[in-house]
Amino acid sequence: MSRVLILHTGGTIGMAAAPGGYRPMAGFPARLREQLGAHAGSRLPDYDIVELPPIDSADLRPGHWAVIARSLLERWDDYDGFVVLHGTDTMAWSASALSFMLRGTDRPVIFTGSQIPLVEPRSDALDNVEAALLFAATEPVREVGLYFGHRLLRGNRSRKLATAQFDAFDSPNCPPLAEVGIDITLHRERIVSPGDRCFLVPEFDDPAVAILTVHPGIAGSTVDALTANPRIRGLILQTYGVGNAPQGDRELIAALERAAARGLVLLNTTQCLVGSVIQETYATGAALARIGVVPAGDMTLEAAFAKLHFLLASEQDPDRIRDALRQNWCGERS
Ligand code: ASP
Repeated sequence: MSRVLILHTGGTIGMAAAPGGYRPMAGFPARLREQLGAHAGSRLPDYDIVELPPIDSADLRPGHWAVIARSLLERWDDYDGFVVLHGTDTMAWSASALSFMLRGTDRPVIFTGSQIPLVEPRSDALDNVEAALLFAATEPVREVGLYFGHRLLRGNRSRKLATAQFDAFDSPNCPPLAEVGIDITLHRERIVSPGDRCFLVPEFDDPAVAILTVHPGIAGSTVDALTANPRIRGLILQTYGVGNAPQGDRELIAALERAAARGLVLLNTTQCLVGSVIQETYATGAALARIGVVPAGDMTLEAAFAKLHFLLASEQDPDRIRDALRQNWCGERS
Protein backbone atom coordinates (compact mmCIF):
# COMPACT_ATOMS: atom_id res chain seq x y z
CA MET A 1 0.00 0.00 0.00
CA SER A 2 1.24 3.49 -0.88
CA ARG A 3 2.34 5.84 1.83
CA VAL A 4 1.91 9.59 1.44
CA LEU A 5 3.27 12.52 3.41
CA ILE A 6 0.99 15.53 3.87
CA LEU A 7 3.08 18.64 4.47
CA HIS A 8 1.01 21.46 5.90
CA THR A 9 2.44 24.91 5.19
CA GLY A 10 -0.61 27.07 5.98
CA GLY A 11 -3.38 28.78 4.04
CA THR A 12 -7.14 29.07 4.46
CA ILE A 13 -7.50 25.29 4.68
CA GLY A 14 -5.97 25.33 8.17
CA MET A 15 -7.33 28.67 9.36
CA ALA A 16 -10.10 29.73 11.69
CA ALA A 17 -11.95 33.02 12.04
CA ALA A 18 -10.34 35.36 14.58
CA PRO A 19 -10.72 39.03 15.48
CA GLY A 20 -9.01 40.89 12.65
CA GLY A 21 -9.49 38.12 10.07
CA TYR A 22 -8.68 34.48 9.37
CA ARG A 23 -5.48 33.11 10.95
CA PRO A 24 -3.77 29.69 11.10
CA MET A 25 -5.41 27.60 13.85
CA ALA A 26 -3.67 25.47 16.45
CA GLY A 27 -4.15 21.71 16.24
CA PHE A 28 -4.95 21.57 12.52
CA PRO A 29 -3.17 18.25 11.75
CA ALA A 30 -5.20 16.37 14.39
CA ARG A 31 -8.40 17.96 13.16
CA LEU A 32 -7.62 17.02 9.56
CA ARG A 33 -6.88 13.42 10.51
CA GLU A 34 -10.12 13.20 12.47
CA GLN A 35 -12.25 14.62 9.65
CA LEU A 36 -10.56 12.54 6.93
CA GLY A 37 -11.12 9.43 9.05
CA ALA A 38 -14.79 10.23 9.63
CA HIS A 39 -15.35 11.02 5.95
CA ALA A 40 -13.30 8.49 4.02
CA GLY A 41 -12.41 5.91 6.67
CA SER A 42 -9.78 3.45 5.50
CA ARG A 43 -10.37 4.08 1.79
CA LEU A 44 -7.47 6.52 1.54
CA PRO A 45 -3.77 5.73 1.22
CA ASP A 46 -1.81 5.61 4.48
CA TYR A 47 -0.52 9.04 5.33
CA ASP A 48 1.46 11.03 7.88
CA ILE A 49 1.05 14.75 8.49
CA VAL A 50 3.96 17.11 9.13
CA GLU A 51 3.38 20.78 9.82
CA LEU A 52 5.69 23.69 9.08
CA PRO A 53 4.99 26.89 11.02
CA PRO A 54 1.70 27.67 9.20
CA ILE A 55 1.47 31.00 7.40
CA ASP A 56 -0.89 32.92 5.17
CA SER A 57 0.71 32.31 1.80
CA ALA A 58 0.54 36.04 1.05
CA ASP A 59 3.48 36.22 3.53
CA LEU A 60 5.51 33.65 1.64
CA ARG A 61 8.97 34.55 0.28
CA PRO A 62 11.20 32.62 -2.15
CA GLY A 63 13.21 31.40 0.85
CA HIS A 64 10.12 29.45 1.94
CA TRP A 65 10.21 27.51 -1.33
CA ALA A 66 13.55 26.08 -0.26
CA VAL A 67 12.17 25.17 3.18
CA ILE A 68 9.26 23.29 1.56
CA ALA A 69 11.59 21.49 -0.87
CA ARG A 70 14.02 20.49 1.90
CA SER A 71 11.16 19.23 4.08
CA LEU A 72 10.11 16.92 1.24
CA LEU A 73 13.63 15.79 0.32
CA GLU A 74 14.50 14.92 3.93
CA ARG A 75 11.66 12.38 3.80
CA TRP A 76 11.81 11.49 0.09
CA ASP A 77 12.69 7.82 0.43
CA ASP A 78 10.12 7.16 3.16
CA TYR A 79 7.07 7.96 1.02
CA ASP A 80 5.60 7.16 -2.39
CA GLY A 81 4.13 10.61 -2.87
CA PHE A 82 3.56 13.98 -1.25
CA VAL A 83 0.67 16.39 -0.70
CA VAL A 84 1.57 19.99 0.08
CA LEU A 85 -1.22 21.95 1.79
CA HIS A 86 -0.73 25.58 0.89
CA GLY A 87 -2.59 28.89 0.78
CA THR A 88 -4.22 29.56 -2.55
CA ASP A 89 -2.82 33.08 -2.99
CA THR A 90 0.70 31.97 -3.92
CA MET A 91 0.15 28.25 -4.51
CA ALA A 92 0.87 28.55 -8.24
CA TRP A 93 4.14 30.37 -7.49
CA SER A 94 5.29 27.71 -5.02
CA ALA A 95 4.21 24.79 -7.22
CA SER A 96 6.19 26.35 -10.09
CA ALA A 97 9.27 26.79 -7.90
CA LEU A 98 9.08 23.21 -6.59
CA SER A 99 8.84 21.87 -10.16
CA PHE A 100 12.23 23.44 -10.95
CA MET A 101 13.89 22.32 -7.70
CA LEU A 102 12.53 18.77 -8.10
CA ARG A 103 13.14 18.45 -11.83
CA GLY A 104 12.80 14.82 -12.93
CA THR A 105 10.76 13.92 -9.85
CA ASP A 106 10.15 10.19 -9.51
CA ARG A 107 7.24 10.77 -7.10
CA PRO A 108 3.98 12.75 -7.31
CA VAL A 109 4.03 16.07 -5.42
CA ILE A 110 0.50 17.49 -5.29
CA PHE A 111 -0.28 20.98 -4.00
CA THR A 112 -3.77 21.71 -2.71
CA GLY A 113 -5.65 23.90 -0.26
CA SER A 114 -9.17 25.24 0.01
CA GLN A 115 -11.31 28.31 -0.38
CA ILE A 116 -13.21 27.69 2.89
CA PRO A 117 -11.40 26.49 6.04
CA LEU A 118 -11.67 22.80 6.92
CA VAL A 119 -13.45 23.67 10.15
CA GLU A 120 -16.24 25.66 8.49
CA PRO A 121 -19.49 24.41 6.92
CA ARG A 122 -19.46 23.86 3.13
CA SER A 123 -15.68 23.60 3.11
CA ASP A 124 -14.02 22.32 -0.04
CA ALA A 125 -11.03 21.12 2.02
CA LEU A 126 -11.85 17.43 2.40
CA ASP A 127 -12.72 16.99 -1.28
CA ASN A 128 -9.44 18.57 -2.30
CA VAL A 129 -7.27 16.70 0.20
CA GLU A 130 -8.86 13.32 -0.51
CA ALA A 131 -8.34 13.62 -4.27
CA ALA A 132 -4.82 15.02 -3.78
CA LEU A 133 -4.01 12.00 -1.58
CA LEU A 134 -5.23 9.63 -4.29
CA PHE A 135 -3.12 11.34 -6.96
CA ALA A 136 -0.10 11.42 -4.63
CA ALA A 137 -0.44 7.64 -4.40
CA THR A 138 -0.78 7.24 -8.18
CA GLU A 139 2.62 6.25 -9.45
CA PRO A 140 2.35 7.57 -13.05
CA VAL A 141 1.78 11.14 -11.81
CA ARG A 142 5.48 11.96 -11.56
CA GLU A 143 4.97 15.69 -11.64
CA VAL A 144 4.55 18.63 -9.32
CA GLY A 145 0.78 19.02 -9.73
CA LEU A 146 -1.89 21.29 -8.31
CA TYR A 147 -5.26 19.77 -7.45
CA PHE A 148 -8.20 22.11 -6.99
CA GLY A 149 -11.90 22.14 -7.82
CA HIS A 150 -11.99 18.66 -9.37
CA ARG A 151 -8.99 19.05 -11.65
CA LEU A 152 -5.34 18.10 -11.47
CA LEU A 153 -3.25 20.76 -13.22
CA ARG A 154 0.45 20.92 -13.96
CA GLY A 155 1.83 23.06 -11.13
CA ASN A 156 4.04 25.24 -13.30
CA ARG A 157 1.17 25.97 -15.72
CA SER A 158 -1.43 26.81 -13.11
CA ARG A 159 -2.77 30.21 -12.10
CA LYS A 160 -5.25 31.39 -9.50
CA LEU A 161 -7.93 33.00 -11.64
CA ALA A 162 -10.91 33.38 -9.32
CA THR A 163 -11.05 34.86 -5.83
CA ALA A 164 -14.18 33.13 -4.59
CA GLN A 165 -15.02 30.10 -6.76
CA PHE A 166 -14.28 26.54 -5.73
CA ASP A 167 -12.57 25.97 -9.07
CA ALA A 168 -10.23 28.89 -8.47
CA PHE A 169 -7.35 27.59 -10.59
CA ASP A 170 -6.81 26.93 -14.25
CA SER A 171 -3.91 26.30 -16.60
CA PRO A 172 -4.90 28.29 -19.70
CA ASN A 173 -2.04 27.07 -21.89
CA CYS A 174 -2.10 23.42 -20.84
CA PRO A 175 -5.02 20.99 -20.55
CA PRO A 176 -5.68 19.39 -17.13
CA LEU A 177 -3.72 16.26 -16.26
CA ALA A 178 -6.82 14.69 -14.70
CA GLU A 179 -10.49 15.39 -14.11
CA VAL A 180 -12.51 14.16 -11.18
CA GLY A 181 -16.23 13.55 -11.50
CA ILE A 182 -18.02 10.33 -10.64
CA ASP A 183 -15.07 8.75 -12.43
CA ILE A 184 -11.46 9.83 -12.28
CA THR A 185 -9.97 10.45 -15.72
CA LEU A 186 -6.18 10.57 -15.70
CA HIS A 187 -4.72 11.76 -19.02
CA ARG A 188 -1.53 9.72 -18.89
CA GLU A 189 -0.33 11.03 -22.24
CA ARG A 190 -0.21 14.56 -20.76
CA ILE A 191 2.10 13.65 -17.90
CA VAL A 192 5.66 14.89 -18.45
CA SER A 193 7.88 11.85 -18.78
CA PRO A 194 10.43 12.11 -16.02
CA GLY A 195 13.97 12.73 -17.16
CA ASP A 196 16.86 12.05 -14.82
CA ARG A 197 16.46 13.31 -11.28
CA CYS A 198 17.99 16.75 -11.15
CA PHE A 199 17.20 17.94 -7.63
CA LEU A 200 18.70 21.23 -6.48
CA VAL A 201 17.61 23.47 -3.63
CA PRO A 202 19.51 26.75 -3.91
CA GLU A 203 19.71 29.66 -1.46
CA PHE A 204 17.20 32.12 -2.86
CA ASP A 205 17.84 35.84 -2.52
CA ASP A 206 14.29 37.05 -1.86
CA PRO A 207 14.32 40.37 -3.74
CA ALA A 208 16.39 39.13 -6.72
CA VAL A 209 13.55 39.33 -9.27
CA ALA A 210 11.23 42.28 -9.92
CA ILE A 211 8.14 42.48 -12.13
CA LEU A 212 7.20 45.44 -14.29
CA THR A 213 3.75 45.66 -15.85
CA VAL A 214 3.86 47.75 -19.01
CA HIS A 215 0.98 50.23 -19.30
CA PRO A 216 0.07 53.21 -21.44
CA GLY A 217 2.26 56.15 -20.45
CA ILE A 218 4.84 54.13 -18.51
CA ALA A 219 7.94 56.22 -17.74
CA GLY A 220 11.56 55.13 -18.11
CA SER A 221 12.20 56.45 -14.60
CA THR A 222 9.81 53.74 -13.32
CA VAL A 223 12.27 51.11 -14.61
CA ASP A 224 15.22 52.93 -13.00
CA ALA A 225 13.38 53.16 -9.68
CA LEU A 226 12.29 49.53 -9.78
CA THR A 227 15.76 48.21 -10.51
CA ALA A 228 17.72 50.58 -8.25
CA ASN A 229 18.19 47.93 -5.54
CA PRO A 230 21.50 46.20 -6.43
CA ARG A 231 20.12 42.87 -5.21
CA ILE A 232 17.66 42.87 -8.13
CA ARG A 233 19.32 40.78 -10.85
CA GLY A 234 16.32 39.79 -12.92
CA LEU A 235 13.45 41.83 -14.33
CA ILE A 236 10.25 40.32 -15.72
CA LEU A 237 8.32 42.49 -18.13
CA GLN A 238 4.60 41.93 -18.50
CA THR A 239 4.00 43.30 -21.96
CA TYR A 240 1.05 43.53 -24.31
CA GLY A 241 -0.11 40.75 -26.65
CA VAL A 242 2.69 38.82 -28.31
CA GLY A 243 5.31 40.72 -26.33
CA ASN A 244 5.04 44.38 -27.27
CA ALA A 245 6.17 47.38 -25.23
CA PRO A 246 6.08 51.04 -26.24
CA GLN A 247 9.18 51.65 -28.37
CA GLY A 248 8.34 55.20 -29.49
CA ASP A 249 9.28 56.22 -25.97
CA ARG A 250 13.08 56.31 -26.15
CA GLU A 251 13.24 56.90 -22.44
CA LEU A 252 11.67 53.53 -21.61
CA ILE A 253 13.88 51.55 -24.02
CA ALA A 254 16.95 53.47 -22.79
CA ALA A 255 16.10 52.58 -19.19
CA LEU A 256 15.74 48.90 -20.12
CA GLU A 257 19.08 49.10 -21.97
CA ARG A 258 20.69 50.53 -18.83
CA ALA A 259 19.28 47.67 -16.76
CA ALA A 260 20.58 45.10 -19.30
CA ALA A 261 24.00 46.80 -19.35
CA ARG A 262 24.16 46.47 -15.54
CA GLY A 263 23.83 42.71 -16.02
CA LEU A 264 20.14 42.21 -15.23
CA VAL A 265 18.47 39.32 -17.02
CA LEU A 266 15.30 40.61 -18.70
CA LEU A 267 12.42 38.22 -19.45
CA ASN A 268 9.34 39.07 -21.48
CA THR A 269 5.95 37.59 -20.49
CA THR A 270 2.57 38.55 -21.90
CA GLN A 271 -0.32 40.13 -20.03
CA CYS A 272 -2.63 37.83 -22.02
CA LEU A 273 -3.75 34.67 -20.25
CA VAL A 274 -3.69 32.54 -23.38
CA GLY A 275 -0.91 32.31 -25.95
CA SER A 276 2.75 33.03 -26.34
CA VAL A 277 5.30 35.82 -26.55
CA ILE A 278 6.69 35.92 -30.10
CA GLN A 279 8.88 38.97 -29.76
CA GLU A 280 9.79 39.70 -33.36
CA THR A 281 6.20 39.94 -34.68
CA TYR A 282 5.97 43.73 -34.31
CA ALA A 283 8.61 46.44 -34.32
CA THR A 284 7.55 47.21 -30.73
CA GLY A 285 8.60 43.71 -29.66
CA ALA A 286 11.69 43.64 -31.87
CA ALA A 287 13.04 46.64 -29.94
CA LEU A 288 13.08 44.43 -26.83
CA ALA A 289 14.77 41.57 -28.70
CA ARG A 290 17.56 43.97 -29.74
CA ILE A 291 18.48 44.71 -26.15
CA GLY A 292 18.63 41.02 -25.28
CA VAL A 293 15.24 40.55 -23.60
CA VAL A 294 14.41 36.81 -23.51
CA PRO A 295 10.90 35.85 -24.73
CA ALA A 296 9.13 33.70 -22.12
CA GLY A 297 6.99 31.89 -24.72
CA ASP A 298 3.77 30.74 -23.06
CA MET A 299 5.17 30.49 -19.53
CA THR A 300 2.90 31.85 -16.83
CA LEU A 301 4.11 34.83 -14.85
CA GLU A 302 4.45 32.56 -11.81
CA ALA A 303 6.56 29.98 -13.67
CA ALA A 304 8.69 32.66 -15.32
CA PHE A 305 9.31 34.32 -11.94
CA ALA A 306 10.14 31.05 -10.17
CA LYS A 307 12.43 29.82 -12.97
CA LEU A 308 14.34 33.09 -13.16
CA HIS A 309 14.70 33.12 -9.36
CA PHE A 310 15.91 29.53 -9.39
CA LEU A 311 18.44 30.23 -12.14
CA LEU A 312 19.78 33.39 -10.50
CA ALA A 313 20.27 31.41 -7.29
CA SER A 314 22.01 28.48 -8.95
CA GLU A 315 23.92 29.79 -11.97
CA GLN A 316 26.36 32.69 -12.32
CA ASP A 317 26.69 33.06 -16.08
CA PRO A 318 23.89 35.31 -17.51
CA ASP A 319 24.17 33.71 -20.97
CA ARG A 320 23.54 30.27 -19.50
CA ILE A 321 20.59 31.68 -17.55
CA ARG A 322 19.16 33.13 -20.76
CA ASP A 323 19.63 29.79 -22.56
CA ALA A 324 17.93 27.86 -19.77
CA LEU A 325 14.97 30.25 -19.79
CA ARG A 326 14.36 29.40 -23.45
CA GLN A 327 14.33 25.64 -22.77
CA ASN A 328 11.39 23.54 -21.65
CA TRP A 329 12.61 21.90 -18.45
CA CYS A 330 9.54 20.22 -17.02
CA GLY A 331 6.51 21.14 -19.09
CA GLU A 332 6.50 24.82 -18.11
CA ARG A 333 6.54 26.05 -21.72
CA SER A 334 5.53 24.65 -25.09
N1 ASP B 1 -4.69 34.18 2.08
C1 ASP B 1 -4.87 32.75 2.00
C2 ASP B 1 -3.51 32.15 1.69
O1 ASP B 1 -3.09 32.19 0.57
C3 ASP B 1 -5.86 32.41 0.95
C4 ASP B 1 -6.17 30.94 0.77
O2 ASP B 1 -5.51 30.04 1.24
O3 ASP B 1 -7.17 30.67 0.09
O4 ASP B 1 -2.86 31.65 2.57
